[in-house]
Amino acid sequence: LIQLNNITKVYVMGETEVHALRGISLSIQQGEMVAIMGPSGSGKSTLMNIIGCLDRPTSGEYLLEGVNVGELSDDELAIIRNEKIGFVFQQYMLLQRTTALRNVELPMLYGRGRPDRQERARRALEAVGMGDRLHHRPNELSGGQQQRVAIARALVNEPRIIMADEPTGALDTRTGAEIMGIFQRLNAEQGITVILVTHEHDVAQYAERIISVRDGVIADDQPVKQRAMVRG
Ligand code: ATP
Ligand code: MG
Repeated sequence: LIQLNNITKVYVMGETEVHALRGISLSIQQGEMVAIMGPSGSGKSTLMNIIGCLDRPTSGEYLLEGVNVGELSDDELAIIRNEKIGFVFQQYMLLQRTTALRNVELPMLYGRGRPDRQERARRALEAVGMGDRLHHRPNELSGGQQQRVAIARALVNEPRIIMADEPTGALDTRTGAEIMGIFQRLNAEQGITVILVTHEHDVAQYAERIISVRDGVIADDQPVKQRAMVRG
């Protein structure tokens, strides 16, 4: 599904260059659930942005479902991103002034009638246990509930991949575990590839594989021996 060959990323800021990624090679198969760990500044978000087609590498090759992403135009890249990838963030990034339902409806691809879009948004919210909060606004929801809405939003275009940068970072341990349970269920039942960043060792144990990044290179890449599972 995902194949990175010797990816580098250099940020140029005036006179200074930051070598954020210094040669990353890695492959992720369809249906895997992977956690990326590593110290602050090690390049995790940079790597996520490249895998998520939000940014391009400075050098190296990225194949997504066999397509060489480096050869695509910006427009083509945006289409792939919208069709194949859903994003979840630490701070939820919901629109504050509108309802859960509308937040999930908004990023939906056009070419569908409004009733159909609303119905699909409702189903995505039901799939994350938010069927009884459709008309709540973000400030009327708990942090965990807001993150569920954000996951529904990521799901609504039926992506093959969900990318989540510190999805439990703003949540307490128990709520974080519930969110990880949702990712596990989407992964197991729908075969969605889940790639998440976390700095919490306990959270990473819900994945089946942990990739450790240090100073822009992969320091370790191991299966999880005793995987934590959330039931229900
Ligand atoms: P954290 O755990 O704190 O989120 P991270 O592992 O996600 O850290 P990155 O955000 O990928 O780290 O940053 C890697 C390096 O690249 C850092 O030194 C950072 O300062 C630099 N960097 C990241 N984004 C940019 C940018 N847009 N422009 C310039 N430098 C950047
Ligand atoms: Mg980061």
